[in-house]
Amino acid sequence: MIPAAIPLPHPAADGQWRQIWRDAVRDPRELLELLGLRDIATGMSQDAAHAFALRVPRGFVARMRHGDPADPLLRQVLPLDAECHPMEGFGIDAVGDGPARAGQGVIRKYRGRALLVATGSCAVNCRYCFRRHFPYAEETAAAGQWHAAVALIAADPTIDEVILSGGDPWSLSTPKLAEFTTALVRVPHVRRLRIHTRLPVVIPERIDGELLQWLRNLPWPVTVVLHANHANEFDASVDAALAGLRAAGAMLLNQAVLLRGVNDSVDALAALSERGHRAGVLPYYLHQLDRVQGAAHFEVDDATACSLHRELAARLSGYLVPRLVREVPGDPGKRPL
Ligand SMILES: *Cc1c(COP(=O)(O)O)cnc(C)c1O
Ligand code: SF4
Repeated sequence: MIPAAIPLPHPAADGQWRQIWRDAVRDPRELLELLGLRDIATGMSQDAAHAFALRVPRGFVARMRHGDPADPLLRQVLPLDAECHPMEGFGIDAVGDGPARAGQGVIRKYRGRALLVATGSCAVNCRYCFRRHFPYAEETAAAGQWHAAVALIAADPTIDEVILSGGDPWSLSTPKLAEFTTALVRVPHVRRLRIHTRLPVVIPERIDGELLQWLRNLPWPVTVVLHANHANEFDASVDAALAGLRAAGAMLLNQAVLLRGVNDSVDALAALSERGHRAGVLPYYLHQLDRVQGAAHFEVDDATACSLHRELAARLSGYLVPRLVREVPGDPGKRPL
């Protein structure tokens, strides 16, 4: 709970986030220049940037350490030469989304839950992203006023939880989100709404008054699953955005991906859990990397992952230890390691 004595910070001005979004850094050379890394060997590759564009909001860049090519936030976004070498065992559809497609932009893998690929847009392009090869153009749930997705959910009474994912669902305008939830309210078997988003971390200004108003008016318990991989991704602006979400009634969880060179140490993982907790977020999943082409250099082997996880459990309160999982196509849920 947020103590009543501490006034909530004012949310960002409505729509200000769009300008911040447009103003993102897209040129790898500019990024290196901003960080004082122009003349330092970083492994940056323009070819990798052509295959999957660099995109990173300036507020996120401001949280990177100046002059450090190994900065854990930089490593998540900088296109590298290492991405360009095809690796055995790393594919295009690493998690079997293709066969699990249930309708336009709807993925059904697990009992009770329908996941909507709401949109293909993201404010940041994460180099390890398992959807970096996803055919978004044809496949978003928001296209066509959400009709196909809502019809599919309405026709299946076993669906009691709807997950807005993407891409980043909060890259959609608030009226576009409201269009969906207004239609979903008429489906009586839906009991929970979940939103998987990286925006409160990468553009905290997205959590503006209009979005919070929409959230407060939803009739279901809402869980927001954030995506932060390192404690340095949090700052005062992120704290303010998260305080706003909690005050609007959302439960906050975090999922991270275990990434070599970013968070593959007990210290980094413990700091992530502790920093998140300070902002009102509990850890949910620590994912083993999905084996997508171009991401092999981020992989941590299972033995190392399990040993890190054991050490983490020995150090932290139980509720600060995320579940270490991998997504295996065909499984009934994420598979614990
Ligand atoms: C990960 C995932 C979910 C959610 O799984 P939880 O274990 O409930 O977090 C739902 N649908 C799909 C398609 C997923 O990939
Ligand atoms: S925000 Fe999520 S979906 Fe978007 S690029 Fe990053 S990991 Fe992928």
